[in-house]
Amino acid sequence: MADDYYELLGVARDADGSAIKKAYRSLALKYHPDRNPGDAEAEAQFKRVSEAYEVLSDSEKRGVYDRFGHEGLKGRGFGGFSDVDDIFSHFGDLFGDLFGFGGRRGGERPRRRGAHLRYDLTLSLEECLAGLEKELEIPNQVGCDRCDGAGAEPGTKAQTCGTCQGAGQVRVGRGFITMATTCPRCRGRGQVIPSPCTKCQGAGQVERLDRVTVRIPAGVDAGMKLRLSGKGQPGPDGGPAGDLYVVLDVAAHDRFQRDGAELLAELPLSMVQATLGDEIDLVTLEGETERVVVPPGTQPGTLLRIQGRGMPRLDGRDGRGDLHVHTVVQIPTTLTETQRSLLMQFRDAAD
Ligand SMILES: [Zn+2]
Ligand SMILES: [Zn+2]
Repeated sequence: MADDYYELLGVARDADGSAIKKAYRSLALKYHPDRNPGDAEAEAQFKRVSEAYEVLSDSEKRGVYDRFGHEGLKGRGFGGFSDVDDIFSHFGDLFGDLFGFGGRRGGERPRRRGAHLRYDLTLSLEECLAGLEKELEIPNQVGCDRCDGAGAEPGTKAQTCGTCQGAGQVRVGRGFITMATTCPRCRGRGQVIPSPCTKCQGAGQVERLDRVTVRIPAGVDAGMKLRLSGKGQPGPDGGPAGDLYVVLDVAAHDRFQRDGAELLAELPLSMVQATLGDEIDLVTLEGETERVVVPPGTQPGTLLRIQGRGMPRLDGRDGRGDLHVHTVVQIPTTLTETQRSLLMQFRDAAD
């Protein structure tokens, strides 16, 4: 599948939008499934050129492709088309309006894809460490089953708007000039609903809570997106559903800070521990105990590294990053009489 998009369309690398569209138009005509019934090779070629056009006709995707190639697009969640219906629903009316030939086989109107949905999910750092499966309740908009999405109470019908006679626009005259504006009564729809559906109040859509189980891999970080194909809004007129994007955020942790796969924590030491050295049991993010050896003469702000106790790596390398502990030496602010006299002895001995 890693064919060069420019070669597939037969255009130069600096081709402009109209040259790209023209090239795609002639190739889409040639390989269109209506013209090549049962020809799997033509269908595969139709998919390839459609994918090339999808990328090269979008300046943002084209920029990513020019700089990073196919891998760059994959990294940004663009995975091409799954089948021919996917292509028609994606381009919608493009085939009919711009190319002058039918999109869908059999001359049906193209079915539109439903809208994509976004859900923001905040995870704890512990959840990012282990990964988890979570059931989410996603508010979705679906066609009303009482009125079949029409918005009119069953047994009644939408009527042609009397103000604009169904045109959706009215002409407003001012002297010599007449201007067409959106009809104020039907808001451009050309139809009014005399008895709105009692379930959806005429909207044709109702809210539904979808339960969606999402698998979150170990090591995820803030800003990452998980795409759940087909879990978005259902398409109008029975078209394919859109996708659901779960956008991740990570709550601040009271002991650990994160930098990619590395974790940072503070290790408080008394003046005596720092001076004489000590062994300290540190509780890691997963709740296990790790013994940290503090060498004698440890300075404030020393970084001690605990290998493999960071976050899972997501860059293809196995294993986990490291945990870096940063020593904080605490100077006593109050002293007992004994401590004070011992410290004075220490001072005198050092002279
Ligand atoms: Zn309804
Ligand atoms: Zn009207």
